Formats: sequence, C-alpha cells, structure tokens
Amino acid sequence: MNQHGRKIVIVGGGIAGLCAAVYALKCGYQVELLEMHDMAGGLAMSWRRGPYTFETCLHWLVGSNPHGEFHTQWKEVCDIDRLTFVDPEEFIRIETSSGDSLSMFASVDALEAELLRRAPQDRAVIRDLISSIHALGKFRMLDPSGGFTGNWLNMLRDLPIFPVLSRLSKISGREFGKRFSDPLLKSFFSTGDIGKMPAVAMLISLAWMNARNAGYCIGGSQALIRLIEEKIAALGGKIRFGARAARILVEDDRAIGVELANGETILADWVVSAADGHATIFDLLGGKYADDATRKLYAERELFASYLQVSLGVGLDLSDQPPALSCVLDTPVMVDPETDLSSVMFRFFHFDPTFAPPGKTAVTSLLSTRNFKYWSSLRAGNLIAYRAEKDRIAETVIGVLKRRIPALAAAIETVDVSTPASVFRYTGNWQGTMEGWLPMPGSGFRPLPNTLPGLDRFIMAGQWVMPGGGLPSGPLTARPAIKTICKHDRVPFDVHPEHTRAEELVGV
Ligand SMILES: Cc1cc2nc3c(=O)[nH]c(=O)nc-3n(C[C@H](O)[C@H](O)[C@H](O)COP(=O)(O)OP(=O)(O)OC[C@H]3O[C@@H](n4cnc5c(N)ncnc54)[C@H](O)[C@@H]3O)c2cc1C
Repeated sequence: MNQHGRKIVIVGGGIAGLCAAVYALKCGYQVELLEMHDMAGGLAMSWRRGPYTFETCLHWLVGSNPHGEFHTQWKEVCDIDRLTFVDPEEFIRIETSSGDSLSMFASVDALEAELLRRAPQDRAVIRDLISSIHALGKFRMLDPSGGFTGNWLNMLRDLPIFPVLSRLSKISGREFGKRFSDPLLKSFFSTGDIGKMPAVAMLISLAWMNARNAGYCIGGSQALIRLIEEKIAALGGKIRFGARAARILVEDDRAIGVELANGETILADWVVSAADGHATIFDLLGGKYADDATRKLYAERELFASYLQVSLGVGLDLSDQPPALSCVLDTPVMVDPETDLSSVMFRFFHFDPTFAPPGKTAVTSLLSTRNFKYWSSLRAGNLIAYRAEKDRIAETVIGVLKRRIPALAAAIETVDVSTPASVFRYTGNWQGTMEGWLPMPGSGFRPLPNTLPGLDRFIMAGQWVMPGGGLPSGPLTARPAIKTICKHDRVPFDVHPEHTRAEELVGV
C-alpha cells in the first residue's frame, strides 16, 4: 500500500461512506469515517425486538451471483462470497380478497407460463415482456469511474440491446402496465413508485432475478454492512460512531475538514460527504456552493416516497406463505390525511433463520407515503397523538393480514411501527425518502455531478449523486469519488478485488 500520509474525512457510515473508506484505505489514505449513529448502515438497516430481527432494506442485492454482473465490484469492497444468498423462485404473489392471484417467478420460463395461465388474452404483450427480459439479461452496467476507456467493451456489448433499452427507458411502468388487460398484471407494473419509474428498471430487475443475480443474503443488509466494516478494520481504518458532522469547514473555497456537533474539529486534505445530499449542501455547507441548477434540482426533482414499516413477531411457522404477498384491498386503507393505499405488501422472512426462533416468523409491511410533513410535525408537536396514529396503523395492517391468516390473531408476540419521522431521525435522509432521487422516463439513471461549483477538495458519494439509489450505488459512487481524489493527488488507484475463499483454495 502506498503510505503517502494524506487524509480524507468521510461523513456518513451508510453503504457509500463505508465503500469510500475501503477504496481510500486501499489507496493509502488515512481515513476518518464519521457516523452520527451507534452503528453503520444508514438505510441498510435492521433492528432487534426480543427474539425477532426486522429488516427494512434488503429485498435483492444486484451482484449476488459470483458469475454475474456487478459481483466483481462488490469484491473490491468486501469478501462478498462469505455471504449465503437465497433466490426464492416465487418472489411475490399478488392476491385479491376473493383469492384471485398472480405469482411472479424469478425464472423467466416459469414466469411466462404463469402469466399465460393468468392472462391468455394478453399473450402478445406477455411474449414481448419475456423477450425483453431475455434481451436485458445481456445488459452490461457502465462503470461511472471508467470513462470511455473503461467502458468501451461494455458499450459494444450493449449495442445490440440498445433499441430495447431505449424504448423501455422512455416509458413509465404505468404506461407499460396499461398494455395488459389483466388487472393484477397491470397493477404489478403500475403501483407506487414502480409505476412512475422507467419500465426498464423493473424489467432489468426481472432479468437479474432470472440470472439468479439479485438474491437476498441471509442476515439481511446488515450482513453485507458488517463484511465491509470488517474490511475497513482489516485495512487499519476506524469508524467513529456517535460523531455527527455539524459543518464542513472551508477556507478560501477549499474544504479543509469537518466540525462535529460537539465542537470538535477534524482537519483533512479532502472531505467526502456520503450523507444526505440536501443536508450536505444546504446545512453542512450553508448553501454557499449551491448554484441555480442544484437549487432547481432539490426544489423540483421527484424523490422516492418515504414509508411506514409495521413489523410483527409472529409465533407461527409461516413458511407456507410466499416471501412477499401483496394484498389487493376492496376498500383502500388510510395511511395519513394525504395517503390512501389500495394494496398492502407483506414480507414473511421464513427464508432467513437468523430473524426468528424456529417455528416463528418475522413479518414486515411497508406502507408508502409522501406526506413526510404530517409524520414529522405530529411527532414533534404531539407525541401522544403520534403514538396513537402508530397504533392505528398497526391495527389496520394486522387487520388486513388476519383476514388472510386467521390464526395470526392469537400469535402476534411483537409489534413495532416506524414512520417517515423515524427514517429521518435515524438516517438524516431528506423527506424521509427511502432511496433518494426517483428515476423518471427520459432522465433515467444518469449520475449527477459529485462536486459543487467553486468548492475544491470536496466530493459527494451515495444515492444523492446516483438517481435510483440502491446498495450498488455505494460502490458505484464511492469508486469515482476516490479515483478523482487519487488522480488529483497523483496517487495510484489500486483497488484490486478480494479473492474468494474458493479461489484461494485452488491457488488463483
Ligand atoms: C425500505 C427500503 C428498501 C430497500 N430495498 C433495497 C433493495 O432491495 N436493494 C437495494 O440494493 N437497495 C435497497 N434500498 C436502497 C438502499 O438501502 C439505499 O439506496 C442505500 O442504502 C443508500 O446508501 P447511502 O450510503 O447512499 O445513504 P444512507 O444509507 O442514507 O447513509 C447515509 C449515512 O450518513 C449518516 N449521516 C447523515 N448525516 C450525518 C451527519 N451529519 N454526520 C454523520 N453521519 C451522518 C446516516 O446516519 C447514514 O448512516 C432500500 C431502501 C429502503 C429504505
């Protein structure tokens, strides 16, 4: 390792901040990683209540397959092959109160058979969907830190599927869903934020699932986070918990360090912010380096919704349930004064033995809302009313599930409700958003600038510079951030991937 003595201070110990720390340490930088909480992960989080663990983040991790797209990138930041992945074949079932159902399968052949069973009248559109998934299976992600030299081969490989990519990037999930006459199929592509995003987002996800490259890792998102923390420790880095950055210190338009909420000053050669974008630009830097384009972006661009999470510890073996179940309701449920939902989704974590004792199941339900103000003002202004609202939501959600599984009524051992106010308190994410900027048809997933005009020695990483967010946005944004710093400092950017245990055994 090249020990040149330069120092980087990183704000935020979510996936992006952790990945930035690994890349920086590998390039010989001293790193001080500041995390305001007592544990790392940010949105990649789970929590324990009695014998149950409740996961908020992980549904699928792109790059789970050792031979698949994006696996090598994970190996640059941790020994991902130590994780155990599961790829449920039926990954979600959509069900009405009358028992009408549609199952979405990971393998594309099973999916085609199920869709044709369900909606033979939509044969032509189903065939188009399936052939698009096959085509998108060949998609190669471009590396934002690679430039033309690092990406030309992938661009060349993506050329034949460009027409499919381009067509599906321009239409929303909702427009795509409209082509089906079957109401459940229509709703799969149209509900919530999926309906607003470019259709290509869902279809590429289906292609990754078909390739078994979007698995769930046992232990949830924290299992991945812990691996990256281990890597940081092995490289001699340290994470400071309970260290809330209050100000990014600037001298002559050059970032020189960070002042913590307790008044302590940390000086460094570079400041990387992997914390919330809005707070970084408008609070930590006081808005001084926000030009018109940045202000317009934060004023106008749409975000992923926030959410309430109802988590239930259930003293029942629910392994006969699908991993995810979307219950379509006859009467919508009211989440808050501006939000009604016509379906409620449940996740039954029976496939993760670390989340509940044998014979019991951790169950969660996420309820989307964009009414962050309602929940944050209620919590700040009237804690009793806030708790009553949380109780009402829990009762509503339990009511929906009890109609589906009557035995549940007597088996609930733990109830936990978090709200958009909790998301903000624990991660600092603006408006309690679950994933930052919502990619829209046309504007898509194009990365945003990771520097601010007029400010030197400062760079951003994480979901606020990569619309669409997701765990891969950690390495995808941390890599170019540290590469830029290395280039500026004339330090070699040498971030070789981890060898897998299997490779070590055969001496690769
Ligand atoms: C419900 C849900 C489901 C999801 N499902 C998936 C999925 O299946 N697959 C997937 O790939 N992605 C999923 N995601 C998205 C993924 O979790 C996020 O996009 C990703 O974790 C964002 O990482 P980040 O590091 O950019 O930001 P964050 O996770 O927000 O990390 C920012 C960190 O900065 C810290 N911080 C903030 N301000 C300060 C400060 N002033 N001082 C010090 N520290 C500070 C925060 O505490 C936090 O730890 C999901 C997210 C949610 C909420």
